[in-house]
Amino acid sequence: MILDKIDKLLQEVAEMSAKNSEEIEQLRLKYLSKKGEINAVMADFRNIAADQKKTVGIKINELKQAALNKLSELREQVATADSDTENIDLTRTPYPIPLGTRHPLTLVKNQIIDIFQRMGFVLYQGPEIDDDKHVFTMLNFAADHPARDMQDTFFISQDANDVTKNVILRSHTSGDEAHYMETHKPPIRMLCPGRVYRNEAISARAHCFFHQVEGLYVDKGVSFSDLKQVLLTFAREMFGPDTKIRLRPSYFPFTEPSAEMDISCNICGGKGCGFCKNTGWVEILGCGMVDPHDLEACGIDSSVYTGYAFGMGVERITNLKYRVNDLRLFSENDIRFLEEFKSAY
Ligand SMILES: [Zn+2]
Repeated sequence: MILDKIDKLLQEVAEMSAKNSEEIEQLRLKYLSKKGEINAVMADFRNIAADQKKTVGIKINELKQAALNKLSELREQVATADSDTENIDLTRTPYPIPLGTRHPLTLVKNQIIDIFQRMGFVLYQGPEIDDDKHVFTMLNFAADHPARDMQDTFFISQDANDVTKNVILRSHTSGDEAHYMETHKPPIRMLCPGRVYRNEAISARAHCFFHQVEGLYVDKGVSFSDLKQVLLTFAREMFGPDTKIRLRPSYFPFTEPSAEMDISCNICGGKGCGFCKNTGWVEILGCGMVDPHDLEACGIDSSVYTGYAFGMGVERITNLKYRVNDLRLFSENDIRFLEEFKSAY
């Protein structure tokens, strides 16, 4: 008798179905609760003959387990069905996607490029990993020239017999000018922005990498006064129409004569303040007339052509424009710092 009852219940359990969790709960109450069907069978258990107890006991356990398994199976079915039929409103306004900002160095680099492009300079980008020949030798840095010590860089591979065959991370973008002059005939008017590397201890004022923009103009009859006018135009476009410039004699291996250019301090307007160390001037770039040796090394006849070159650090210009006086901030990827440039264009 009891075995028939159990078989009937097993049949019922196998056929259980539910559309939602409430129905599952009803089934659980019906079969597995204290007053449920299975407990009722177990209550009958004590009345059966001793020789049948073992068989019936096994059967009851089987029934209980079947009911538990079936219920968890139903719960899984309902949960899957719920997520399948979730209402998706395609007309709903989407969650706002947080927009990034341009990196301050990118902002300033783009401003520099924009000013020079309007004056007819074309963009060129050379390799960051370059050979010594283009980075130093063709630019008048002899193999044993002390100026090489000013630009200690990182070596990819070194040639014990011939330094010009060393492969290095470029220490300035001037190598781009050598590449360009090798492959283009004058008139040349190019601008080469890019990342450069130096073997420096990292501090607020020095880093192992930074960014430069260099420019080169080679043609017949290019003079120092052309250079001065282009740089004055640049300074006024970048820092405002009242900006003044001054050129101080300096030394670079690849230009002769060479100069450092200062602009009137854009904080105090030239009166003198802490930023300009009370001089009224701040240095922004180096420049000069291309050494005839460099033109010849790149296959350009220096008796016909002359040229000027200039180079500036993008970090330096960014510091002057936005007062970022710690170089490390540029590469820390701190969102709080980068978001300060949200309103800059
Ligand atoms: Zn000042």
